[in-house]
Amino acid sequence: MDGDILRVNGLKISYAVGDEKVRAVDDATFSIPGGSIVGLVGESGCGKTTVARGLTRVMTKNASIEGGEAIFDGADLMSMSETEMNRLRWRDIAFVPQSAMNSLDPVYRIEHQLNEVLVQRGGHSRKDARRRAEELFDMVGIEPRRLKDYPHQFSGGMRQRVAIALALALNPKLVIADEPVTALDVIVQRQILDTLKDLQEKLGISVILVTHDISVVAYVCDRIVVMYAGRVVESGDTETVLTKPYHPYTMGLYNAFPDLQSSAGVLTPIEGHPPDLRHPPTGCRFAQRCPFAQDRCTTSGEIALSDVGGGHFAACLRSDEAETLRGDAAKSETWAAMA
Ligand code: SF4
Repeated sequence: MDGDILRVNGLKISYAVGDEKVRAVDDATFSIPGGSIVGLVGESGCGKTTVARGLTRVMTKNASIEGGEAIFDGADLMSMSETEMNRLRWRDIAFVPQSAMNSLDPVYRIEHQLNEVLVQRGGHSRKDARRRAEELFDMVGIEPRRLKDYPHQFSGGMRQRVAIALALALNPKLVIADEPVTALDVIVQRQILDTLKDLQEKLGISVILVTHDISVVAYVCDRIVVMYAGRVVESGDTETVLTKPYHPYTMGLYNAFPDLQSSAGVLTPIEGHPPDLRHPPTGCRFAQRCPFAQDRCTTSGEIALSDVGGGHFAACLRSDEAETLRGDAAKSETWAAMA
């Protein structure tokens, strides 16, 4: 790894909902080292997809960036003009959306869709585009003759491979993949993740993998950023964070998902729901569901990330007791008591 390709500092993104503003991402801070896969993980509604879309600045009309910066390759994505951002999309930063069908037009052959990107955006000649399209299909493990097929002729997993080929078309430095393996069966998930990891290493690119499934992060990511209720609550090297988590939410999340490599182990859910972000609680946003909450957790104000050592950050007032909390968090009765 060769320095950070992206540094996100204090990013704030809100949605206008009726007369109210909902802060979906609040003060998100994390970095993406060059040549790495970073998993952005959390439950539905935690802000991870909003961060991913915010970074490409392709957001719904009611979303607005209200603060912070995202320094990509030395320039702030948040203060670029739309023309500058447009130049950057596909060429430097590519996006793989949640469902591959969303990025593939059902009425055109795949070849046509790849050509659009290669010729229109990449300035390739038709002949070069054909060659590059074949190369891309080869890279993602699809026979080049299938370039003539329509999206509906591919299985879900193959469509996801096509979406990855599209994202890689112009040799981007950063690929942001939003839930790229959700809704696929576990075997296909692993195959797609293996392909993504192989390509990431071979091409030396960086990938942000957005997922609700911490086992996906455990399987393929070098680093992890855990989000809860719009805030980053823990980040660091994946193995360190998952074997020695400092935030109870990460401890709970890890208990709640099966291992991608084995079906063994008892799953323990985190009871309850994330807070309503129209009226976020004061203090720690996880307090209502946290088996280790104390009075001070709800009266302290927002809890900032602190360095717990070795590039590992956590936002918990009881970080200094993490070892004891980990032991208790491994017992399902600890979480069942919150039901
Ligand atoms: S600050 Fe308190 S409530 Fe929040 S995660 Fe830590 S122990 Fe739990």
